Amino acid sequence: MLSLENSHANSDLHINPHNRILLVEDEDLIREMIVVALSEEGYEVKTTANGRTALNLLQNQGLGSSEFAPDLVILDLMLPEINGLDICRLLRYQGNITPILVVSAKGSETDRVLGLEVGADDYLTKPFSMRELTARCRALLRRHRYSVQTQAQVQSYREVQLFTEECRVVVRGAEVNLSPKEFKLLELFIGYPKRVWSREQLIEKVWGIDFVGDSKTVDVHIRWLREKLELNPSQPEYLITVRGFGYRFG
Ligand code: CA
Repeated sequence: MLSLENSHANSDLHINPHNRILLVEDEDLIREMIVVALSEEGYEVKTTANGRTALNLLQNQGLGSSEFAPDLVILDLMLPEINGLDICRLLRYQGNITPILVVSAKGSETDRVLGLEVGADDYLTKPFSMRELTARCRALLRRHRYSVQTQAQVQSYREVQLFTEECRVVVRGAEVNLSPKEFKLLELFIGYPKRVWSREQLIEKVWGIDFVGDSKTVDVHIRWLREKLELNPSQPEYLITVRGFGYRFG
């Protein structure tokens, strides 16, 4: 069940475009309290009570125009269908670096350490004050913005690293030479792991809408990229064909 609801929109508030928060919490009362507190601070909040819905939403960022790509995730641990620790682990494995603040009733040192080890950025034990929550959110967003600014030049997924500014790609520790189009294609893919791209979308993003030619061009470039990235190009691990749709990365 997809039940994403908008926060109480307050048109008088200035909404910072970098202050979108996804709140994943299955306790109605806590969820409502957090929404009120964050909305008052000017954050745009979407909520879901279900782990699977949260994961789907976070994995499908960038698909379609109605997307809600959060700048921060507030994540409860005990959730229906998929628990918070698994969500954290999966997102980090897939290269998603959105900051995650875990809020949990499990407050033991072991729980907190485990949460941080699977990729949470901060951990708040219930019960907590709304003041502390909003302060932690602010700090996390500030830290993240700073690290994104300083690290945006490197994008990596598993054994592939792409250095945007230097137009350089390293695979399994070794430098590979890509043509400008191959580089652009890889840059697009690596920014959205698991996202499925149609040939038409790839042409539009990489070659531009004025491109004259057919979608075979994409297939040819994918084949070249596979030869450079994959251990075994005929059994790709990175550039995967999605029959009937197009390609995905990872
Ligand atoms: Ca819960």
